[in-house]
Amino acid sequence: MCGIVAYIGPSDALPVLLDGLRRLEYRGYDSAGLALLNPGGIEVRKAVGRIANLATEIEKFPIRGQAGISHTRWATHGAVTRDNAHPHADQSGKLHLVHNGVIENYQSLREQLQERGHIFHSQTDTEVLAHLVGEAFDRSTSRDGAALIEALRQALRQVIGTYGISVIHAEVPGLIVGARRGSPLVLGIGKHEHFLASDVSAIVAHTREVVYLNDYEIVAIQAEGFEISTVSGTGADFQVSKVEFTAESVDKGQFPHYMLKEIHEQPNSVRDAMRGRLSIEEATAKLGGLNMTNAELRAVDRVILTGCGTALHSALVGEYLIESLSHIPVECEFASEFRYRNIPLDRDTLVFVISQSGETADTLAALRESQRKGHRTLGICNNVASTIARESDGGVYMHAGPEIGVAATKSFTSQLTIFALLGLLLGRIRHLSHSDGRDIIAEMEKLPDLVARTLELETQVAAIAKKYARANNFLFMGRQAHYPVALEGALKLKEISYISASGYPSAELKHGVIALVTEETPSVFIAPQDAVFEKNLSNIEEVKARKGPVIAIGTEGDTSLRKVCDEVILIPDAPVYLSPILSVIPLQMLAYHIANELGCDVDKPRNLAKSVTVE
Ligand code: GLU
Repeated sequence: MCGIVAYIGPSDALPVLLDGLRRLEYRGYDSAGLALLNPGGIEVRKAVGRIANLATEIEKFPIRGQAGISHTRWATHGAVTRDNAHPHADQSGKLHLVHNGVIENYQSLREQLQERGHIFHSQTDTEVLAHLVGEAFDRSTSRDGAALIEALRQALRQVIGTYGISVIHAEVPGLIVGARRGSPLVLGIGKHEHFLASDVSAIVAHTREVVYLNDYEIVAIQAEGFEISTVSGTGADFQVSKVEFTAESVDKGQFPHYMLKEIHEQPNSVRDAMRGRLSIEEATAKLGGLNMTNAELRAVDRVILTGCGTALHSALVGEYLIESLSHIPVECEFASEFRYRNIPLDRDTLVFVISQSGETADTLAALRESQRKGHRTLGICNNVASTIARESDGGVYMHAGPEIGVAATKSFTSQLTIFALLGLLLGRIRHLSHSDGRDIIAEMEKLPDLVARTLELETQVAAIAKKYARANNFLFMGRQAHYPVALEGALKLKEISYISASGYPSAELKHGVIALVTEETPSVFIAPQDAVFEKNLSNIEEVKARKGPVIAIGTEGDTSLRKVCDEVILIPDAPVYLSPILSVIPLQMLAYHIANELGCDVDKPRNLAKSVTVE
């Protein structure tokens, strides 16, 4: 959610900052701004809307500097206006600060500052932080980097809330300070230059050597070096990591949108989720990152899966996959509910938190609550070294590569692949025989090719999308593991095309939903050839009897669906524990092509942010 990029070094900071901000656009934002430090002082430019507007503003009123901070804002406190865009200055006007996150006690701090004569120019919580740091610095007798760092410490000790920040001060040229609590901040180490960013993709074109900062850490960067300490004033242990992906992997390549690129990456991302994790010899999955022995896994008698949005839908599919393969009871919870609900959990409950970014605020809070209660809590994340990945007791990385499109696609299928691996592992420890395990592995190995074949349906799906794009409402239905796939199909459509859509178990139709069926309301049924196919077919008949158009996802070779449905999309046959990985793909493509047909901004849907780091 929103982003920070800061640079200090020998180059012109402006192109580095603007390019970095563009690479963070996918995170969602509503305004942007930057401040550059030059011998004449600090100059600020801001604009509401896209980075392009900020670039136009800078063309009209050019600025230069070799150090600067920049920001994309996703408003939490105060309307989307130029005055509320960051950077914000302190009372002296010499200190400028950008901030991701929320200062929860900003109101009382603001009143105290006002009593001391401070005047505010925005409605944001962030401006309060700028004034606090500036006030602490102005109280100090020395005017150097150490004093600025100390001022930041003093200010941060007074705030309650979350922050990723970067600060510059006109009297301390040659230095940028940053800090984090709850909002990510990463330090990029270059040759004679350093960077701060909320996400490595903003700086990976310049350096792949990074330090992921921990909560309550403060970083000070100069062209020639950096220093990491803590808010409490102690030194900090840190580790320099190498970024796994390259700048090219965060480009769109030949695709018009990141979302489409990521949909088409799924044969590889699914393969990468399994890579090195299937042992034919032992006929099981190997998930060393769980940090659990087989004896410990054997003792697990209940599994909880928690996440938000698409990750929660994948958890709901995971419930079916893990239960069917391992026979361990699985339950799903919205992370936002889990964190506040005092669920009675047995001692041998294993909790998984699922988040592509590894920074989702509610999911992180669920992780911490689960650990507070003493449960072993494992993460399923894509972003290596993200907060959830670091704080969990172990876990499984998706290895899906950067997912930039706001509407999650490849992370969903990677998560489902991981649930199948988990089901296999837990099942083999219990009731699955060696030969059962080998059969499952053989099926899993076919999966990337089946995904590739499913993607070949795109032309057909695009034609269907064109035909139904003007509908005002869509219903999505499925049974068993395809029910949460229906939820995910509806979510994709809502997210990027703004068409009202909802998902249900097919049987719920008669319990209320059928009242919505009209000639203008398409129903999308996921009805592969499985144990409940006939049941789905009856539900389809019920919709057709009321003249509702039906788009069905069936299995290759099916002949019954054609007789009743308006449109039939046939996907390859796969066992029940893998088929949701295929059935969701036409739904992703349907949402994409409908949104495109309607001229929506597919990669940057309105109001949405990629990584939701606020509650
Ligand atoms: N709470 C701050 C604001 O509303 C920062 C929001 C953000 O993270 O972009 O300005």
